[in-house]
Amino acid sequence: MDLEYTAEELAFRDEVRAFLREQLPATIAAKIKHNRRLTKDEHVLWQKRLHQRGWAAVHWPTEHGGTGWGPIERHIFDEECAAHHAPPMLPFGVSMVAPVIIKFGTEQQKQQYLPDILASNVWWCQGYSEPGAGSDLAGVKTRAVRDGDHYVVNGQKTWTTLGQHADMIFCLVRTDPNAKKQEGISFLLIDMNTPGITVRPLITLDGEHEVNEVFFDDVRVPVANLVGEENKGWTCAKYLLTYERTGIAGVGQTKSLLSHLKTVASEQIVNGRPLIEEPLFRARLADAEAELMALEMTNLRTVSAAADGGVPGAESSFLKIMGTVLRQEITDLFRRAAGPYAMPFLSEGDDAVGPEFAGAVANRYFNYRKLSIYGGSNEIQRNIIAKAILGL
Ligand SMILES: Cc1cc2nc3c(=O)[nH]c(=O)nc-3n(C[C@H](O)[C@H](O)[C@H](O)COP(=O)(O)OP(=O)(O)OC[C@H]3O[C@@H](n4cnc5c(N)ncnc54)[C@H](O)[C@@H]3O)c2cc1C
Repeated sequence: MDLEYTAEELAFRDEVRAFLREQLPATIAAKIKHNRRLTKDEHVLWQKRLHQRGWAAVHWPTEHGGTGWGPIERHIFDEECAAHHAPPMLPFGVSMVAPVIIKFGTEQQKQQYLPDILASNVWWCQGYSEPGAGSDLAGVKTRAVRDGDHYVVNGQKTWTTLGQHADMIFCLVRTDPNAKKQEGISFLLIDMNTPGITVRPLITLDGEHEVNEVFFDDVRVPVANLVGEENKGWTCAKYLLTYERTGIAGVGQTKSLLSHLKTVASEQIVNGRPLIEEPLFRARLADAEAELMALEMTNLRTVSAAADGGVPGAESSFLKIMGTVLRQEITDLFRRAAGPYAMPFLSEGDDAVGPEFAGAVANRYFNYRKLSIYGGSNEIQRNIIAKAILGL
């Protein structure tokens, strides 16, 4: 693989940089740099600016409004966005439900949903997990019973990220309780404003409201909102998960985080010398950097294979594990760099004591514990690798 960018690729990088300099609001970039939560309006504003430039859906086919970029362009775009502290693209619409609609949806569903996803007119959330059905996703119990041209949905979803803002939720529901576990599941698109839906906040370790419980009580959903065939939703579910896990690798974001950590470690003085010269810290930092280079190469190989017609397969599990373990390690090194200044939470105010970088450290450290759990826990990803790649 040639690791030097071509002249065209360098020109493309300049184009992305110019766009980010002109269009990314400084207030939003500052929030991302210091790990502060964006409002719904800020997320939507940024996604709309990307859409105006034609860059909202980097991996969609051009016929549906995607960019048609190859893997290298996507990689450059991802890196530059992270380096300029642009908000990461919210995955639920553009990277999760849209590929499923494109592959399994009807023409009517494509026309109805894809343009609004592209233009960020509709906020989506993911209704996969339930109490008792997380790792064992095929254990979903939320029932959908056919009643004329509607399904009547009853049950509960949990851990629904940013569901408090959502207009639509895509759900796995059980349509045949007597079939084998994986065979009686369907994939439904549900309007969050339908009567019978209740959203309740779950407050996480960092003190934030990011996830929710969603309850369905006799919720009537048109049969037209079924994606793919009834009882065959498991195929859609698995297809979506490979996209979700590949997206979690987060190479650009990790690079930006590591580069910030190196600056911080060069400026923090411990026992009379910069922290970056302290042997144990330095060794962990070097390990993280080497792992990041390996992750980047693997990621490039995977996206390159996907561009040649394949979909990300079991490799996405590998990327998910590596990407998340690495970001957790870097947030732990940040915590060490901040020392006692890591203690104040952001929610206690902007004027926390200590160096500027320290305000975000505890919040991010606690929040990032989620990375190895969501999108399918890392233990489960290891099982997938053992079976699908190593043949164990
Ligand atoms: C912050 C956050 C946001 C999330 N957002 C969403 C969302 O928006 N939408 C959504 O649908 N879901 C979401 N999830 C849910 C997430 O996908 C699940 O938490 C995850 O799949 C794990 O399921 P569980 O929590 O039921 O854990 P469990 O399945 O109960 O597992 C508990 C532990 O046991 C281990 N374990 C279980 N089975 C095995 C096995 N066979 N072999 C080895 N180890 C095993 C697991 O790895 C884990 O460590 C989110 C979760 C978090 C934490």
